[in-house]
Amino acid sequence: MHLKSLEISGFKSFAKRAILEFTSPISAIVGPNGSGKSNVAEAFRFVLGEQSLKSMRGKRGEDLIFNGTSKVARQQRAAVKITFDNSRRVLPIDFDEVVIERIVHRDSVNEYFVNGTHVRLKDIIELLSSAHIGATGHHIISQGEADKILTASDKERKEMIEDALGLKIFQWKRLEAERKLEKTDENIQHVESLRRELAPHIKFLGKQVEKIQKAKELKSSLVLLYKDYLSRESYFLEESIKDLHERSISPQAEREQISLKLEELRVRIGEKSGGARSSSEVVGLEKKMSEERERQSLLMRDLGRIEGELGYFEREIHRLLKETSDRRPVPFERVSSLEAELDSVMSEALAEESKTKKDLVSQLRAIIKAFFQSIQDAKDEVSLGKARAEIARLQEQRAKLDAKYQDSKNAEHLNRVEYEHLRQSIEDEQVGSLEAEKEMLKVMKRLQEVENELSAIGVERSQLERQRDDFAREVREAILFAGSDAARFEPVASYREWSSSQERSRQAEKKRMTEKTMIRLEEAGAAGGDELLKEYEESFQRSEFLRKEVEDLVRASASLQTLIAELDIRIKTEFESGLGKINNEFSRFFTHMFGGGSASLSLVKKTRKIRESVDVGEISENMSEEPVAEEGIEVKVGLPHKRIQGLVMLSGGERALASIALLFAMSQVNPPPFIILDETDAALDEANSRKYGDMIEHLAKYSQLILITHNRETMSRAGILYGITMGSDGTSRLLSIAFDEAVKVAK
Ligand code: ATP
Repeated sequence: MHLKSLEISGFKSFAKRAILEFTSPISAIVGPNGSGKSNVAEAFRFVLGEQSLKSMRGKRGEDLIFNGTSKVARQQRAAVKITFDNSRRVLPIDFDEVVIERIVHRDSVNEYFVNGTHVRLKDIIELLSSAHIGATGHHIISQGEADKILTASDKERKEMIEDALGLKIFQWKRLEAERKLEKTDENIQHVESLRRELAPHIKFLGKQVEKIQKAKELKSSLVLLYKDYLSRESYFLEESIKDLHERSISPQAEREQISLKLEELRVRIGEKSGGARSSSEVVGLEKKMSEERERQSLLMRDLGRIEGELGYFEREIHRLLKETSDRRPVPFERVSSLEAELDSVMSEALAEESKTKKDLVSQLRAIIKAFFQSIQDAKDEVSLGKARAEIARLQEQRAKLDAKYQDSKNAEHLNRVEYEHLRQSIEDEQVGSLEAEKEMLKVMKRLQEVENELSAIGVERSQLERQRDDFAREVREAILFAGSDAARFEPVASYREWSSSQERSRQAEKKRMTEKTMIRLEEAGAAGGDELLKEYEESFQRSEFLRKEVEDLVRASASLQTLIAELDIRIKTEFESGLGKINNEFSRFFTHMFGGGSASLSLVKKTRKIRESVDVGEISENMSEEPVAEEGIEVKVGLPHKRIQGLVMLSGGERALASIALLFAMSQVNPPPFIILDETDAALDEANSRKYGDMIEHLAKYSQLILITHNRETMSRAGILYGITMGSDGTSRLLSIAFDEAVKVAK
């Protein structure tokens, strides 16, 4: 016993709550026309998830809700609950009792519940399909639909059989797998195109990153080179400075000793020469004498020059005195005054007629002679005066120089006297100081050597200072080009070879190496490295993610394909074996019903042409007919003692019997928990009603039967009878009744 009860409230004519308990394998619902019996069958459809309003005789969801009468108010919602005994776990859910409820509201919103939990329609369909209660509702035969299985097309019939065999769930799964596969393949395409788009960018970034890596390597090797070079160089400089210092200690000390020694010797020499006189005085006197001589020669040179000038001026005077010159220029006013004078003498002479020519000429001659004489005299006076003044000045100078010269001579003489005297006295004393002087010479020679040594050290020191400056610059460069890490060098452990020429050339080689590396690093140009690395890393991660995604999708696609293939096999094998079984049962029921004859189902494949529009530009006039292969189930029947073959040739009663035989055969293979037959027996005569009753009893061994009937024979087979009446308030009423009452109600 699977089906326990059905609770209807607000559904169609059932305004009030009505509960039908199905405690017997066969339940019959009886009542007059229009009392609401078919509404019960529809309540079953409704609660099992039926989506076709037409099959529940409605147009809108609202039509399913009690619409009210003049006496009873309309309901806002229709609710139907169906309760199953699930102690044998016919439904794959871990409850002994399963209650499925569906509610529809006036706004057509539907709600589904399983044991009070809100679920989706899909969950209901899945749950029921595993108990062979499929959506096509082959187990609910509505009024007048008994021969639906016969009138259906081959294809529809096949679907009904598949449903009865419980294959719908696999087909549904297959469809879902196909949809998923399609979506997965689309995703693969999409993700692969994303990867393709990303590839050149990654390639480009990869090259940049390679450069950066190279630069990084260069930089780290530069750091190592620098560290090695700088640590050795700093050791070299420190040791060199120490070494120079040590080397300069002894010469400096010696120099100090020597200067003390010299002082001592000087004292000694000074004591020997009487203390007052010394060779320096001799030198001083010599110097003075030579200075005087120098002065004298300068004075002599000046005197010579003055003598020369004096000679010149004396010669000039002499020349002037002797010279008669006619080339000398005569001022014009003098010549015109001469002319005026001559003119006046001439005019006087002309006036004084008494004067003779001789007197006149001599007078004129005297005037002219006087004129020339005056000119001559004037000239000589100027030049002679100047020359005589010069001579006087020069003579004065000569006298002064002479005096100076004489002074100098005198001074020199005095010095010489003193010098000679001094020399004499030194020579007298020299015998005693000779040794001291000899030693002094020796000491001075040594002093020279020591000085040389110290100045060589000084040169080295200044070289070293330059090297230290260079070193400081190198450290700055190291920090600039290789980072502060490069300058964080450990002082090298002492090494004996630090100052050897091989080591120095090795250091020079290292320096060249650092410079080369520095240039290569600059050429590598690794600017903006961090950002680029980050971008590369992100892009690479993305590409990897996409690669994995493709892999996952390909795997998913493969497993979906496998699933589809498996489902195909399962559907095919289960269908074939199910069809075989149905065929057997069909034949058995048919021959039982008709007392012989034959009936069979066969799988047929037909190609059907469907019209499909093809777009040609903007006009879609051209039509092509695509043939589609379709599988279906064909029914063949042969009546006993008749040659008639085929369904069309059957009478109404025969069609009803044949279809009942097929329906019963179908429900035998995978028996559904219950079967509802709404007046399937309406067309049967008495004899056939009995056969129908027998079959029902046979069927009731496997499925619960709910029969809506007016047939007395059928009622007699039922264990429970429900009477439905239409009350005066226009609502359906339900009551459990005895057989006799039922017969009365039915009539
Ligand atoms: P028959 O024996 O003639 O087949 P029946 O007993 O099967 O009759 P139903 O077809 O189940 O009768 O019931 C039809 C009745 O239900 C009608 O009287 C109809 O008015 C009523 N009905 C249908 N829908 C609604 C609704 N939404 N609200 C109220 N009453 C409704």
